[in-house]
Amino acid sequence: MSPGPRKDPVAVETEVREKIHLEILKRTGAYHANDHVLLPSGQHTTEYIEKTLVTTEPSFTEGLGAVIAKHFAPWPVDVVLSTGPGALILSHCVARAHPSRPVVVYGAKGLSGGKRRVTIPVEFQRLVRPASKVLLIEDLVSTGSTLTLLINLVEQLGAEVVGVGCLWRRTSVELTGKPVFSLVSRDFPTYDPEECPLCKKSVPLNEEFVRRRHARRPSSVQEPKAAL
Ligand SMILES: [Zn+2]
Repeated sequence: MSPGPRKDPVAVETEVREKIHLEILKRTGAYHANDHVLLPSGQHTTEYIEKTLVTTEPSFTEGLGAVIAKHFAPWPVDVVLSTGPGALILSHCVARAHPSRPVVVYGAKGLSGGKRRVTIPVEFQRLVRPASKVLLIEDLVSTGSTLTLLINLVEQLGAEVVGVGCLWRRTSVELTGKPVFSLVSRDFPTYDPEECPLCKKSVPLNEEFVRRRHARRPSSVQEPKAAL
């Protein structure tokens, strides 16, 4: 009997690694699979990731950060730059595990005149300086537009982007010219409701993630008003 086609060992290792990382994300409650989910865009999909839950388990985050740090260990890194506060915990874990002992800073995302904008706070500008080696960290890379802006900003400051590390990259995203390492590289199909194969099979639609945004409010408390 002739042996079946052998898979490339590197590809197998990547596949196994991704499975492990997906299991970790499932354990945090961040990753939902085999579902029929309504997205905020109105489209339907089979998988969903809740960004805010991704780094709620410190030991998992430390483990995932160490994997990214190990990948970039051969490169000297002066600064780990988080794309925003959302990826900051992961950035800390990457920096902690990187042999260069880099500092950690973060950018801020916003909109200006309907266009995306990224900013590095004034306090951090002395750390991202000419010839600094910068590793960018993002949690989920969905379109890559924030990262592209941040790469431009770092280069405008005269620093060098050594690469991009992220938890999850949608495979449709290309970031040309920079090495990108993602723990999970995975795209999931999104469907217009009228073309959705799950709707056609009458699988119940999970509207929880969208409904929750409208129906539930975050827990909060406010300082009482001063008596007049
Ligand atoms: Zn559907």
